[in-house]
Amino acid sequence: YQAKHARTGIAVYDPAQDLNSLERLETLQQLRKTIQEGRFLIQYQPILSIQDRFISKWEALVRWEHPTRGLLRPSEFVPLAEEAGLIGELDLAVLKQAVQNQKQLGAELAINFSAVTLAHPNWVREVVRSLVEEALQPSMLWIEITESALLPERQKWLGGLVALRGLGVRVSLDDFGMGYSSLAHLKQVPIDLVKIDKSFVAEIGQSHTSEEILRAMLQLANAFGLKTLAEGVENRAQLEWLARHGCHYAQGYYIGLPMSVDQALEKVFSKVF
Ligand code: C2E
Ligand code: MG
Ligand code: MG
Ligand code: MG
Repeated sequence: YQAKHARTGIAVYDPAQDLNSLERLETLQQLRKTIQEGRFLIQYQPILSIQDRFISKWEALVRWEHPTRGLLRPSEFVPLAEEAGLIGELDLAVLKQAVQNQKQLGAELAINFSAVTLAHPNWVREVVRSLVEEALQPSMLWIEITESALLPERQKWLGGLVALRGLGVRVSLDDFGMGYSSLAHLKQVPIDLVKIDKSFVAEIGQSHTSEEILRAMLQLANAFGLKTLAEGVENRAQLEWLARHGCHYAQGYYIGLPMSVDQALEKVFSKVF
């Protein structure tokens, strides 16, 4: 590996960089194999319907049991999969497996799609195929997309999203409030629900100003006829505040951690929220 110094044009050999690229290549090969063999894991996190006080959805969160590094979170391999062109395959494989697991979970299912996946020409067909194969009602499926995903090349994904929504599949805007022109997106993008980022939820009980912002976000979503979900609910006080302010759904460690299907089945949600 040779890095050229930007200004002098002198090539500098950097052994650390060399090791990184070797490691990267190895990781990439392992990731490709894991995806091909369908050996990644999915954990499911419960989502509480606040008014009805029952678990109405489960969000599928992918994990990778790495041969030497242990259980990896998406932040440790999703960006790599995106760069390497593997993310579409991964997202659709997660969808397929999650749709199969939905029968056991017995509630609605939410899955995360990368912007790169949305730009793939076949993704809509693959989603429909998975639904048909498992005889899952489209209205049981929620696709989560992040705001940043919505910025570039709208024409590449908008049609597909509209088509799926026409069939009854629902769309959530993930990590809402984290930046970009949040407000503008609410009217330009076909969505059903906004997931308010956990950084806002963490401020409940901490800062009056932040609570006012959160309140305004909930009101704004309501004004657009959208459902609201608060991410990262970690304690009872946060949940009570959200209930008082008309938030529809809550998700976070206080409700339940991401868990395997078996754990989800074992766990009796008898806890009164
Ligand atoms: P996300 O969709 O916003 O998911 C919520 C993240 O917050 C998850 O992290 C979850 O474990 C974590 N979380 C849940 N409750 C709490 C809480 O009370 N407190 C705190 N501090 N954190 C909480 P995770 O599993 O590491 O996933 C990170 C991101 O990776 C997800 O963010 C999602 O954008 C992405 N992701 C997950 N699965 C997939 C997938 O299959 N495909 C793609 N493309 N992205 C995925
Ligand atoms: Mg999500
Ligand atoms: Mg989120
Ligand atoms: Mg988030």
